[in-house]
Amino acid sequence: MRIGIGYDVHRLTERRKLVLGGVAIPFEKGLLGHSDADVLVHAVCDALLGAAGLGDIGMHFPDTDPEYKDISSIKILAKTYELVSSKNFKIMNLDSTIFADAPKLSPYREAMQKNIARTIEIEPACVNIKATTFEGLGMIGKGEGIGAMCVVLIQLREKKNNYPD
Ligand code: MG
Repeated sequence: MRIGIGYDVHRLTERRKLVLGGVAIPFEKGLLGHSDADVLVHAVCDALLGAAGLGDIGMHFPDTDPEYKDISSIKILAKTYELVSSKNFKIMNLDSTIFADAPKLSPYREAMQKNIARTIEIEPACVNIKATTFEGLGMIGKGEGIGAMCVVLIQLREKKNNYPD
């Protein structure tokens, strides 16, 4: 078994859609980025890549590549899952926290959980999504950005001859 951690922050800006966990969330601002800037999904991707020893999201999906311009990060997660699966790992569970003072995210939690679980082919019960505020402190608390953190556990499907190099 191997664990991985992912962390990401994106800037909030006007005239962008807010997408978290593949869910479009009504809000006055959205996250700035090359893709749809889905900070939760980016943290999940980095955690998966980290657990599998495959580097990070920027290596595989560079923000200079026009292929990923405005792409749904769920598609990046699907490609990440392919990479991790190609090393013969299965995903056991993930736990994540979104850092945002606004908007309120609890109404969208279940939809995010389902989107992520479907994409990485595990049960929704194995995808935990939490949210916390920064109580007005710092970049998150002042609404300058939204962050996310994720931890995953993965396991080799077969123990012999398949350990990644
Ligand atoms: Mg990112």
